[in-house]
Amino acid sequence: MKVDFADRIGRIPPYLFAEIEKTILEKKRQGGDIISLSIGDPDIFPPPFILDALREEVSNPRNHNYSFSQGEPDFRQAVSSWYEKRFGVEVNPQSEVVALIGSKEGLANVARAFVNPGDRVLVPDPAYPVYANGSTILCDGVPVVMPLLERDGFKPDLDKVNGNGAKMMFLNYPNNPTGATVDKTFLGRVVEFAEENDVTVCYDNAYSEICFDGYRAPSILEVDGAMEVAVEFHSCSKTFSMTGDRIAFAVGNKKLIEGLTAIKSQVDSGPPVYTQRVATKALESYVGDRPPRDVEKAIETYRERRDVFVKSLCSMGFQCDKPKATFYIWLNCKGGSIKFASKLLDVGVVATPGIGFGNYGEGYMRFSLTQPKERIEEACERMAKIL
Ligand code: PLP
Repeated sequence: MKVDFADRIGRIPPYLFAEIEKTILEKKRQGGDIISLSIGDPDIFPPPFILDALREEVSNPRNHNYSFSQGEPDFRQAVSSWYEKRFGVEVNPQSEVVALIGSKEGLANVARAFVNPGDRVLVPDPAYPVYANGSTILCDGVPVVMPLLERDGFKPDLDKVNGNGAKMMFLNYPNNPTGATVDKTFLGRVVEFAEENDVTVCYDNAYSEICFDGYRAPSILEVDGAMEVAVEFHSCSKTFSMTGDRIAFAVGNKKLIEGLTAIKSQVDSGPPVYTQRVATKALESYVGDRPPRDVEKAIETYRERRDVFVKSLCSMGFQCDKPKATFYIWLNCKGGSIKFASKLLDVGVVATPGIGFGNYGEGYMRFSLTQPKERIEEACERMAKIL
């Protein structure tokens, strides 16, 4: 029997990081000492209180039944209280919150609820590849690129974006891969654009807590009118170093939450109850709008690594600013990114070529600061020899 993939599979490129993982494995098999600054997966362990909570909650036999598709009521209440503490935004835990098995899942499934075949979806470029691929193309939608240019601070120029007939827009700040950040004024313009063009906004705020130098990332829901047009995605993955535990949440417009929940009730049954209980404790650990000490320490560690790496790049003759958030460095590599990546690979340093995040990512490299400072210093020494 001949087994054919559906046409839509042919329209998505291979998942970038799966390809990079293969390269790393192959190099390691050949005995190379590889320093991977490629994948955005924290090397810092989850805080001890999270590990304790996981042990406790997973051992509780009551936590092994199906969850509610929308998520456990206690977890949704914790999300609502966290929004109040962190952003000063009131959300209704019954109708404006849904638990997710990682925000990637939510970003993909929200499109399934609202994007019809042929619908235009505004996606930033460069960007986390899920918006164009897992979300839009896998729903037979048409991604319409909003270029993120260095001269605009890697923000879309909304005066130039043609929102006519677009159904949905994805945006992500603090931004992966560029490390760019925004303020409430920009988010106000986004909401205005959404209202003018009848476009719903999926705002990915996965890095809201990894901020430096006094910057605090805002929520789009702080903007007047945002609840009418937007849904925001948050995750415990980066904040609490829980990428593998798959627990996140979406908050926002009732209809968007209802649609996302409707899809989830058909394709999964919500995150495991014990991860929701742990995430509840994680969110409750905030003191006012500040994360707990262990998270503050992890943020400080990323900041230190950022400073070491950026200083080193500048001493190599690159022009590179310190990002105010995320654990990514987006470097203008003054040439082809694939060629640059393979040059780095020759000295055992793995980083992600910008082209992997879209055509407007060409000419850039993304470095992820998810290695100890000593390894980052070692990577810099190796790079300095060849660049
Ligand atoms: N959004 C962005 C911008 C990301 O970089 C990532 C992961 O790297 C995610 C969402 C997905 O996070 P998770 O599915 O672990 O919540």
